[in-house]
Amino acid sequence: MSSLLIKNAKWVITPDKILKDTDIMIKDNQIIGFESDDADKTIDARNKIVMPGLINAHTHLPTVWTRGLIENKPTLEWVRSFNDFDTDSNLASLSAITGIQEALLGGTTTIVDCSYFSKEVAHIAHYMGVRIVLGQLMIDDGQSERTKDSIKKAKELVKYLASLKNNRISYAFAPHSVYRCSNELLISVVQLAKKHKVKLHIHLNESKSEIEMVKKQKNTTPLKHLDDLGVSKNILAAHCVHLTKQETDIVKKQGISIVHCPVSNLKLGSGIAPIENYLIAGIPILLGTDGPSSNNSLDMFETMKITALLLKLKNPAFPAIEILKMATSYAAKSLGIDAGKIEAGKLADLILLDTRSPHLQPLTRQEQLVNHLVFSAKSSDVKTVIIDGQVVLNH
Ligand SMILES: [Zn+2]
Repeated sequence: MSSLLIKNAKWVITPDKILKDTDIMIKDNQIIGFESDDADKTIDARNKIVMPGLINAHTHLPTVWTRGLIENKPTLEWVRSFNDFDTDSNLASLSAITGIQEALLGGTTTIVDCSYFSKEVAHIAHYMGVRIVLGQLMIDDGQSERTKDSIKKAKELVKYLASLKNNRISYAFAPHSVYRCSNELLISVVQLAKKHKVKLHIHLNESKSEIEMVKKQKNTTPLKHLDDLGVSKNILAAHCVHLTKQETDIVKKQGISIVHCPVSNLKLGSGIAPIENYLIAGIPILLGTDGPSSNNSLDMFETMKITALLLKLKNPAFPAIEILKMATSYAAKSLGIDAGKIEAGKLADLILLDTRSPHLQPLTRQEQLVNHLVFSAKSSDVKTVIIDGQVVLNH
């Protein structure tokens, strides 16, 4: 059994409560509590804020290498532009290394990713120590050969991930979207997801042009179409910028979680998701960057700030703590990962931020802490990242 003591943390945000001058004891991959004990390793946290690691609930790591190359295009044109870039497994692996490095440096401890190169991403994630939920991206554009191929590759990936025997790596089936997947593919994938007891991770209702396309293809709207097919349960839905009232009711009824990706939605001109309405309806909201080619970063502190600013357009009193929970405890709960909180029994996924940067001054009163983390902190304030009880970054 290995043990780790975080000693004298200046501030700890759990995030249900705030503690001051506190120790945190970790044994193996679990948080034991706030008492001190002898430990194999001790981290001096006198000038640090300790908080749960951030969860980036929607991205595409292998697209790192297209960062800054596909610009000034609306959503569907941007999606089609990927065909102009040939990616191979070497480029995908290099992208995954760079992307995971960027994510860790910015305090992200869990990534939800989907791409054509999930095997390569899994291999890199395995060695870099990040927690990740992976899905092989499935697109068939109505061609039956591609339907079979998509399913075959997804099944192979499930087997490969099991062979890694790594509790930090898990699977979510990832059909790309309603407009790029046939009904046959969507129905098959849902059966597979049920069999393996995992979620479906899919882009839904991202842009008005996507919705128009689905109306032409299927004579309905994307999320309603999934519900009509009987496949709308246990979904992690990226975007949901444009939902009808009926679709919002379906999301609530079927227990769908929405991943809000505000930077990508703004950059591609997709719109601003009405998160305030979804919250009122009691829908779980997670946060994601989306891929680095539509963001153009994997910075979850920036995503938290922009989420907060957009919500304040509708409700200036919206509390910053709710944003912090979307990126930590609420996200972990939706994903079924026993992390996202600093409390006894939880997985030890934590980050330590330096309190001494000029942009975090002054920090003398407890009520400043959460506002600083959402509105003032930068990813470069993250100095230590602990995942599954292991220190994976310390600088
Ligand atoms: Zn995406």
